[in-house]
Amino acid sequence: MTAHTKTVAAFDVEALRAQFPILSRQVNGHPLVYLDNAASAQKPEAVIDAVANVWRTSYANVHRGLHTLANEATEAFEATRTKAAEFLGAASACTIVFTKGATEGINLIASSFGQELEAGDEIILSQMEHHSNIVPWHFLRERKGVVIKWIPVTEDGGLDMEAYQQLFTDRTKLVSVVHMSNVLGTANPAQELTRIAHEHGAAILFDGTQAAVHMPVDVAEIGCDFYVFTGHKLYGPNGAGVLYAAGDWLDRLAPYQGGGEMIAEVSEDSVVYADVPHKFEAGTPAIADVIGLGAAIDWVNGLDRMAALTHERALLDRAEAGLAEIEGIRLFGRTQDKGAIASFLIDGAHPHDLAQLMDKYGVAVRAGHHCAHPLMKRYGVVGTVRASFAPYNTIEEVDAFLAALHKAKSFLI
Ligand SMILES: *Cc1c(COP(=O)(O)O)cnc(C)c1O
Repeated sequence: MTAHTKTVAAFDVEALRAQFPILSRQVNGHPLVYLDNAASAQKPEAVIDAVANVWRTSYANVHRGLHTLANEATEAFEATRTKAAEFLGAASACTIVFTKGATEGINLIASSFGQELEAGDEIILSQMEHHSNIVPWHFLRERKGVVIKWIPVTEDGGLDMEAYQQLFTDRTKLVSVVHMSNVLGTANPAQELTRIAHEHGAAILFDGTQAAVHMPVDVAEIGCDFYVFTGHKLYGPNGAGVLYAAGDWLDRLAPYQGGGEMIAEVSEDSVVYADVPHKFEAGTPAIADVIGLGAAIDWVNGLDRMAALTHERALLDRAEAGLAEIEGIRLFGRTQDKGAIASFLIDGAHPHDLAQLMDKYGVAVRAGHHCAHPLMKRYGVVGTVRASFAPYNTIEEVDAFLAALHKAKSFLI
C-alpha cells in the first residue's frame, strides 16, 4: 500500500478542501466549519461528477439489459461491487450486497439470520450501539422471544471484555457490535471480539459505519461473518451502502425482500432465486448512488490514507486539549484507540443550546443522543455535544470551534 510509504508532510489539506465545493460557503456570516462528519460527510467533486455523469450520459436500469446504456450502467454499477470488496479486503465481489445503508444491512441480517432463531436463542449487543444495531434485534425479541444480552461499556468508553466472555451460553447465536462508536470514537478490538464469538460457536456482525471512514478495514483479517457500512459517511451519496457476508452465508440465508432482480424464475406455484449476491437485491437499486459510492471509494483510496488519519488525529488531539481546559467539561470516550470524534458536556449548559449558539458562528456540531439511548443511559446523561472530524478539516477550524464554544458557554453560564 503506497499510503504507508508517503510522508505525513505530503498531506495537503488545502488541496483536499478545494475538492469540496460546499466547504467554501458561508454560514451566518462566517466561513462554514463543518464538524458533523459522523452524521454525514460532505462530497468531493469526484463523487458529485460521477453521479451527475450517470444521469447525463449513461443512465438506464441495470441488469438484463440488451442495449448499450443498460450495459454501461450495469458495468459501472457492478464495478462498485468489486471496489467495495477490495476496500474491505473481501475475497470476492460475490460477498458484497448493496443496501440503502448500514441500517438496511443490519435489518437484512436480523431478518434473514433471524428466521433461523427460536425463542430463548441469544444475541449479544453492546451498550454503545447505534439504534440501527438495536431496534432490528428488538424486533426478534418482540416477535420470536429472542433474548438480547449487553456488553457493558467501561467508564473510559471501551467494551468490558471480561464481561463479554461471561455473556455466552450454548444458546448464543450472534454477536452484533459496532466497530467504532459514533459517539465515543472508540475502536473496538474486532479480531478479539470475533475470536471469542467463534470459540463459542456464535456468528459476529460489525457495524462498520464509522470504522470504514476512520481506519483501514480488513474483513479477512478480522475474520467476521458480516460487516456493514454506509456510503454517505464515506464521502459518497445517500442511499447506497454495503453488506459484506463471509464464506457461504449468502447462499445459506433466506432472501430479505422479494421482487424483480432477485429471481431466476417465477411461476404461479414456485420461485427460483437468483444467484448471490443478487438474491438479496430486490427491485431497482440506487443506480447512480451506487456508482457514486464507487467514486467515493476511489477517492478515499486516492488519499494518502495514513497521512489523512494522522491529520485527523492531530485535529482530535487539539480539540480535546482545548476542551480539557474548559471549566465544568466532561469528555466521553477516553480510550487510546479511537477515531476523530469528540463528545462532551459542559456543566450547566444544555447541549442543544451550545450547538445552536455555535451555529451563529458557522460551526456545525451535533447535539443530542446520537441515536444511542442505551449509551446515554449508561453515562446518566440525556445527550452530548459531538464534534466529528474529517481529513478536510483544519487546525484553524478546531480553533474556531473552541472559540465559538467559549462564546456559547459565556452566553449560557
Ligand atoms: C450513522 C450510523 C449508522 C446508521 O447509518 P445509516 O446510514 O443511517 O443507515 C449506524 N451505525 C453507526 C455507528 C452510525 O454512525
